[in-house]
Parts: sequence; structure tokens; C-alpha cells
Amino acid sequence: MGQGDWCWCNKCQGLFYGGNDTRGKCPADNNEHSRAGSYNYTLQIMG
Ligand SMILES: [Zn+2]
Repeated sequence: MGQGDWCWCNKCQGLFYGGNDTRGKCPADNNEHSRAGSYNYTLQIMG
């Protein structure tokens, strides 16, 4: 079973969950994470 809507942030090079209205705080500039150039990732959760 996987969970979709994970995105890659090109500012902090981190993954964040993009399925919410708020994208969380990016440590790179204390703004929202950026979805620019990101694919939607699906994390595979084993077990
Ligand atoms: Zn970020």
C-alpha cells in the first residue's frame, strides 16, 4: 500500500507531503516548500 502526493522540494532537497493545503515549512528559507519541478511520488509502505 502506498501513499501518494509526496513531492520533492528543490530548495531543501527534501520530500514533503503535498496532499494538504499547507505544504509545511521549508528549512531553506522558512517559507513553504516548493513543488516546482517535482514529480508526485508515491511512498511504498511495507508491512
Ligand atoms: Zn523545502
